[in-house]
Amino acid sequence: MLPYGRQSITEDDVQAVAEVLRGDWLTTGPTVTRFEEAIGALAGGHRAVSCTSGTAALHMAYAGAGVGAGDEVVTTPMTFVATASGASILGAKVVFADTEEDTGLIDPAAVDALVTERTRVVAAVDYTGHPADYAALQPIADRVGALTLADAAHSIGGSAGGRPVGDLADITTFSFFPTKNMTTTEGGAVVAKSDAIAQRAHEFHFIGMVRDADRFKNPDQGAWWYEVHEAGLNYRLTDVACALGLSQLARLEAFKQRRAEIWARYNAALADVDGVRIPVQRDAVDPVWHFYCARILDGRRREVFDKMRERGIGVQVNYIPVYWHPVYADAGYQRGMCPNAEAFYAEELSLPLFPDLTDAEVDRVIETLIDVLG
Ligand SMILES: *Cc1c(COP(=O)(O)O)cnc(C)c1O
Repeated sequence: MLPYGRQSITEDDVQAVAEVLRGDWLTTGPTVTRFEEAIGALAGGHRAVSCTSGTAALHMAYAGAGVGAGDEVVTTPMTFVATASGASILGAKVVFADTEEDTGLIDPAAVDALVTERTRVVAAVDYTGHPADYAALQPIADRVGALTLADAAHSIGGSAGGRPVGDLADITTFSFFPTKNMTTTEGGAVVAKSDAIAQRAHEFHFIGMVRDADRFKNPDQGAWWYEVHEAGLNYRLTDVACALGLSQLARLEAFKQRRAEIWARYNAALADVDGVRIPVQRDAVDPVWHFYCARILDGRRREVFDKMRERGIGVQVNYIPVYWHPVYADAGYQRGMCPNAEAFYAEELSLPLFPDLTDAEVDRVIETLIDVLG
């Protein structure tokens, strides 16, 4: 089966990991620091905190923002469940805003109608690697004293209005899972414009440990002393994983270019095919295309999905509307709440897209899809 996403690992990656394995630090050493500096530099010059997954990054981002019981988080249903569940697990109420009909990105007008004085975070997702409309979202969040969050699991290395992903929202999260744009095996990161939020996220992922003597509630205890002021978890990424991450970062631009070529090849071939709708791109946005989102019309998505899989093409559906999951449905979230997102879901079919995919393989996907539709 041709996978829908896949890592690209070179001998350089293997060497970089082996070198760290032979050294003194396996975890929380100098390679973690170098990786965090490199991610921060790429993402607008803000502090980055690495962690064990994109899911952990979202949990840390919400904890860093101080999200808790009584707060509301407005987000999109067209995402992986972790964008919402990271806030739910902290006791916040998640409010789902509908998506734009064409892009599948969170609709600022829908957000505008849902924010209240209780809104702590407005969390957008750069679905398929296309940055959301933060220029519109930020003033809406600012009006009610909320923060913006970019779930940039798909979009590391992209930009909008000349500003890199990481500089578009108050807080940004990344995932380095193998199918994403670059990998550390499992892994993720939080980037925050506010040092206080970054530090709080850092402490949350480090068991809540405070090591800054100026903040100790019990001063002058000795050099071993640390304090825990807020409960945290161990979400630390390892030096071994960060060695892979640094090596991958060196190829991120090449990955981006190859992804764009594949995306354009699909677009050119599918633009005039009956029964398919191709994705759109807004002006002034420079995406990192994470997957190719085709929309299969006439109620045929399931049939096309099954036939593509039967023929060895690893298509996917991204995403089941988050509030359809029983964890939300059982809590009273009703189907029909976000009609654009549900209509989008009904047609969505993700085609394989990863840097090592050859033109011949792309053409095979295209020919198979056209044949299945015909
Ligand atoms: C992959 C993904 C996550 C979670 O990342 P993991 O590293 O798999 O935990 C969160 N949000 C989105 C949009 C994703 O695609």
